[in-house]
Amino acid sequence: MSDTNESAGPLAGQVALVTGASRGIGRAIAESLARDGARVACVATRVENAEPTAAACSALTGGAAAYGVDVSNHEAVAALVKEIGKEFGGIDVLVNNAGITRDQLLLRMGEDDFDRVIDVNLKGTWNFVKAAARPLMKAGAGRIINIASVVGVTGNAGQANYAASKAGVIGLTKSAAKELSGRGVTVNAIAPGFIQTDMTSDIPENERNALMGGIPLGRMGAAEEIAAAVSYLAGPGGAYITGQTLVIDGGLSL
Ligand code: NAP
Repeated sequence: MSDTNESAGPLAGQVALVTGASRGIGRAIAESLARDGARVACVATRVENAEPTAAACSALTGGAAAYGVDVSNHEAVAALVKEIGKEFGGIDVLVNNAGITRDQLLLRMGEDDFDRVIDVNLKGTWNFVKAAARPLMKAGAGRIINIASVVGVTGNAGQANYAASKAGVIGLTKSAAKELSGRGVTVNAIAPGFIQTDMTSDIPENERNALMGGIPLGRMGAAEEIAAAVSYLAGPGGAYITGQTLVIDGGLSL
């Protein structure tokens, strides 16, 4: 972990762990939490992928570090959470953001595509919640924020695996909230709509235009607009919110 300036802000003195922090929504979340004063453990599939985000966070706050893990690997995640807890002196905010898509219509979807998406998006989230739950409960305080998706609420043709994984994340969030809130740990989910990142960059122009027609606000969202909500839930304003799913989709699901 590299230390730079002394941090200030609503999360000063706190430690945040963000998965999928190398790019897109995760990078915006890591930087937003750093701007709030948190020291940030930035996790991606490979340590070198997360290094640019950690460097950007270090420049904003009191310290940050990069880590690599496959979030679907139960033992590796348990070991990493322990390591980060030791290096940073605890974890206060856990953001489960790592996720993948393998879209295909149901009849064409292979078993591998179903299993991998569930393993990364749902089991990966569970792996981190499970590994962090005991230390957070022991500390008697903490915030867990899981990035789901609006399609976990509405379903979506071509995304049976992804929508199931995100609906699972919402169910996991509610269950964990019921188990952990009595020990001072809030657990919430954010369900983004269409956000401009690598994940949505290869949607063909005609599909993109059709999608836009279904969004009352008439545009895709920005990663920073999801990050702002994570900062809110992690900060003082989020203290009395638990077990909720905040849909941020420009009205798409209305
Ligand atoms: P993205 O740009 O594709 O980035 C995905 C991130 O997840 C990367 O940091 C990637 O790390 C990491 N990751 C993927 N598989 C992993 C694994 N097995 N182990 C560890 N890390 C892994 O995605 P995004 O658009 O920012 O999406 C972030 C989250 O928001 C996802 O959960 C996604 O489902 C959700 N979401 C996105 C949208 C959207 O419209 N973009 C909408 C709703 C929900 P590497 O760089 O190392 O590969």
